[in-house]
Amino acid sequence: MVQTLTEFDTIAAISTPIGEGGISIVRMSGEDAVKIANKVFKGANLEKVPTHTIHYGHIIDPKIEKVIDESMVTVLRAPKTFTREDIVEINCHGGIVVTNHILQLLLENGARMADPGEFTKRAFVNGRIDLTQAESVMDIVRAKTDKARQVAVGQLEGGLLEKIRAMRQEILDTLANVEVNIDYPEYDADQITANQMATTSKSVIKKIDKLLKTAQEGTILRNGLATAIVGQPNVGKSSLLNYLTQSDKAIVTDVAGTTRDTLEEYVSVKGVPLKLIDTAGIHHTDDKVEKIGVERSQKALKQADLVLLLIDSSKGLSDADQELIKETANKKRIIILNKADLGSKISPQDMHKLTGSDVISTSILKEENLDELEDLINKLFFSGIENSNEQIMVTNQRQSALLKKAKRELEEVINAVESGIPVDIAQIDFNGAWDTLGEITGDSAPDELINQLFSQFCLGK
Ligand code: GDP
Repeated sequence: MVQTLTEFDTIAAISTPIGEGGISIVRMSGEDAVKIANKVFKGANLEKVPTHTIHYGHIIDPKIEKVIDESMVTVLRAPKTFTREDIVEINCHGGIVVTNHILQLLLENGARMADPGEFTKRAFVNGRIDLTQAESVMDIVRAKTDKARQVAVGQLEGGLLEKIRAMRQEILDTLANVEVNIDYPEYDADQITANQMATTSKSVIKKIDKLLKTAQEGTILRNGLATAIVGQPNVGKSSLLNYLTQSDKAIVTDVAGTTRDTLEEYVSVKGVPLKLIDTAGIHHTDDKVEKIGVERSQKALKQADLVLLLIDSSKGLSDADQELIKETANKKRIIILNKADLGSKISPQDMHKLTGSDVISTSILKEENLDELEDLINKLFFSGIENSNEQIMVTNQRQSALLKKAKRELEEVINAVESGIPVDIAQIDFNGAWDTLGEITGDSAPDELINQLFSQFCLGK
């Protein structure tokens, strides 16, 4: 599966966001990185400079001897680099034209355009990081809140890797015993072996369960919790939206190709990233065509993991409110009794009795109880975690699907042992679990999976 270092050509890409910034970085990795950089750089002989040094000079187009930009070039020689290959980073002035020109020069002089995620892929293939760490690189880039970033950094440092490797070791130790027992069958050796496998399976399942418990929160931290704000006209939906999207909470995202209607707005509520659904629909509550409004809110409801249902508590419960309460009954929701400053006709206690949901009384206009609302949202989603400071989380579908698969295989082992099926047959699933756990870290992952995974990365990473 693993290609050797020498099969790699030298790749180049712009590693900073495309646009006008103070500085852009064009990065190269591979055997010829220093040689290629040297062809287009005037200021020092990069092939002679010590590793991990930075050099001032000019990027020139060797064909026409023309200066393209003034720049600082960093030379990092293998193996102490991100990819474990030679890396050169060219810091140039941040315009699109200049940065592209420099990239073109590198391509003309022997580098190949990098595929998305190829730098990180090389770090993986060259054994510097495992798949969970590679995924965390992507997560750090995309992290929407500080907490999400912390979890991703924990994973980059190998937290999840360590846990998975420890589980695999447990299985391997038992397998070693099994092999011995099968090779030297003695009186009741089979039974001893079977019991060992069952005991280990139970122990590993416990550890898998602990990790799976973090999966829901981990996924939310990574992707955002899809949240719909619903309620009758004039109840305060856009006021709540404005409060949530005020600058210190708003998370600016750059999703290419989005239109106003499908724009995803993210906000951070005490570390929980909320992905607000159909905020355009809320902005346009005066929709002339009422039908579209209804269809929209139903669509928003369908996608929601969390519903914030607003009710005007100064007016009492209307039929339309009752309808919405019914429609959202099977969703995780918080009922917000708004406009409490105008006097409340409904008490949170009564509403809780009626619906069984968390209820909070607020005045969005006067910003009363909004901090408590945020606490409630946060509590709702971190209550499942035994230790809310848990830094090691399962943060994506791939990881949790494989953990579940390994768990199923181990359960099969236990079933087989308990129903007296021969040891060598029970062992098939035991081996399977070992492989499945290896897929999480990439120790036994097929090539297609690895290629697919890295293709989700952004260019230059
Ligand atoms: P939407 O139609 O649900 O989006 O409601 P808006 O957010 O546009 O609010 C409708 C009106 O109610 C506006 O004039 C708001 O200022 C007002 N409003 C919102 N929240 C409160 C509140 O808590 N108390 C009072 N008194 N007025 C509020």
